Amino acid sequence: MPETKSYETVSANVAKVREQMKEAAKRAGRDPGEITLVAATKVQTSDTIRNAIKAGITVCGENRVQELVAHLEDNAYEGAKVHFIGHLQTNKVKFVVGKVDMIESIDSVHLMDAVEKQAAKVDVVQDIMLEVNIGDEESKGGAAKEDVLALARHALECPHLRLRGIMCIPPATASEEENRGFFQETSQLFIDIKDELGDNGSNIDCLSMGMSGDYPLAIEEGSTMVRVGTALFGARPPWHPQG
Ligand SMILES: *Cc1c(COP(=O)(O)O)cnc(C)c1O
Repeated sequence: MPETKSYETVSANVAKVREQMKEAAKRAGRDPGEITLVAATKVQTSDTIRNAIKAGITVCGENRVQELVAHLEDNAYEGAKVHFIGHLQTNKVKFVVGKVDMIESIDSVHLMDAVEKQAAKVDVVQDIMLEVNIGDEESKGGAAKEDVLALARHALECPHLRLRGIMCIPPATASEEENRGFFQETSQLFIDIKDELGDNGSNIDCLSMGMSGDYPLAIEEGSTMVRVGTALFGARPPWHPQG
């Protein structure tokens, strides 16, 4: 685990990122107020998270169940919301459902049913988003583009789930031009889902796309939620996504 990042460091970075977000929104003729900065806090200490919240971060994004559980025990997220943004295994849903404000990474009927079952058990309505594998990468989480609409329909049949939107992580190797294409495609999918679901889709207001390397681009293409780690907390040591 890296050392705790000071309040001064984190707040300076938060200010820089927010400035970039504002400029990107302006270029796109959008209201910066409609875009949420989610701090991707993987591998960070509880004190770093506290410093980020003190610096104005209102939503933390957590990748790994183990870290989520530890930070919850520590009360590290006090004053902010928490989104689960990593790969979620069905046998771990009990550590996440009802403990976070949003699960951004639902990518199969199987996982959705497990989350619904747990939400029913603990008697909550869980906000969820669908993760789309927009680059059709074999090794990546996320539902296939063709399956997203069916997944959205399935969510409507789950009384303890509230569908809020979609999330994507384009291929790490994508060029800026390719990235823009992936963001445009995801934006269109977001619009299509809302159109298709009509009145049933009235809660769908979140389009989560953009990370440290590309969040201005994502905002230009319609993102309402950017998940930023490195630009707020510095480079991370290598880690293993399935851990
Ligand atoms: C780590 C992570 C991010 C943030 O990545 P950075 O490039 O460090 O900004 C965003 N989304 C997800 C799902 C992540 O795992």
